Amino acid sequence: MKLFTIVGARPQFIKAAAVSRAVAEAGGIDEAIIHTGQHYDANMSDIFFDELGIPAPARHLGIGGGSHGAMTGKMLESLEAAMMEDRPDAVLVYGDTNSTLAGALAASKLHIPIVHVEAGLRSFNRKMPEEINRVVADHLSVLLLSPTQTGVDNLKTEGLTKGVHAVGDVMHDATLYAIEQSKTRSTVMSDLELDGKDYAVCTLHRAENTDDVDRFARVIAFIEDQAKTRPVIFPVHPRTRKVMAERGIKPEGVVQIDPLGYFDLHRLLADSSLVLTDSGGLQKEAYFHRKPCITLRDETEWTETVGAGWNRLWTMDDWKSPRVDITDCGDGDAGAKTVAVIKDWFAAQK
Ligand code: UDP
Repeated sequence: MKLFTIVGARPQFIKAAAVSRAVAEAGGIDEAIIHTGQHYDANMSDIFFDELGIPAPARHLGIGGGSHGAMTGKMLESLEAAMMEDRPDAVLVYGDTNSTLAGALAASKLHIPIVHVEAGLRSFNRKMPEEINRVVADHLSVLLLSPTQTGVDNLKTEGLTKGVHAVGDVMHDATLYAIEQSKTRSTVMSDLELDGKDYAVCTLHRAENTDDVDRFARVIAFIEDQAKTRPVIFPVHPRTRKVMAERGIKPEGVVQIDPLGYFDLHRLLADSSLVLTDSGGLQKEAYFHRKPCITLRDETEWTETVGAGWNRLWTMDDWKSPRVDITDCGDGDAGAKTVAVIKDWFAAQK
């Protein structure tokens, strides 16, 4: 079976690492990684391929930057050409980025079956580009692999029941791997002189925060408020760095650093006392580390983390009391289950 895996953004490299490892272990699938180029900085892309041992991309399309329409359009054209040339049996897309959308659209027009990993997530906020991308990808896919039962329920509400499987969360697999590896492969604690210190970790990059000047100022003020009790370590996403430089924003009590590799990020999480983020991935990783997280958004797709008492929206006053057991994201074998579902489906086509 020839499988095209479309990736382009940081969270997709991390998810693909967990699944590609399982693909290699299972055998029988010839996987080609197609990198759209959406994220291109070395510390947003190459570092994840190196650290996580992701197979080198068979193709790198070099499409980064531009408006949503321009970027998606260019990706669509290049992905279509690649698919017409190589004729994969299926196309695997992850999550909710423009690369996901372009991969799903290109494949569907060529009648190539689509597998969507992280299907069924919903913020119910159609102003988010990510929400549009994930809804479209779900409705075009033949296999909808959801991390949670909530995802399965969301799909059912939209009439999607065929090909839906709850396989667990591939980010949980990735986190368990990173926790182990980061014990010996990270130097971040000594680099930042954090050993034995109390600190929070912050990431911020969503367009709904960065593109709205007033809202961004309020979010920064909220972070500064949190920084009064402990320093906030802030690996700054390139988009956010640009916005902060343009607007002359230098948050007090906040240690701004370059984006970190995956093992450093997890080492940092492991000893932190609070996470502040608008990232989908980091909300969950905080949860897997059992660290309290304040989500810098007005809604979240990861409602389980709020229900379990580890996450709250910045607009909420109180935490629920945290639950210690974490049972709603699989056992760290989501990658293996993903591959098993794909192989079963392919065998049934013959
Ligand atoms: N991440 C990382 N280094 C950083 C910041 C984040 O490795 O400096 C990882 C983080 O652990 C998570 C992923 O990047 O797994 C999240 O990516 P991002 O926030 O860009 O996207 P989202 O999860 O919001 O889609």
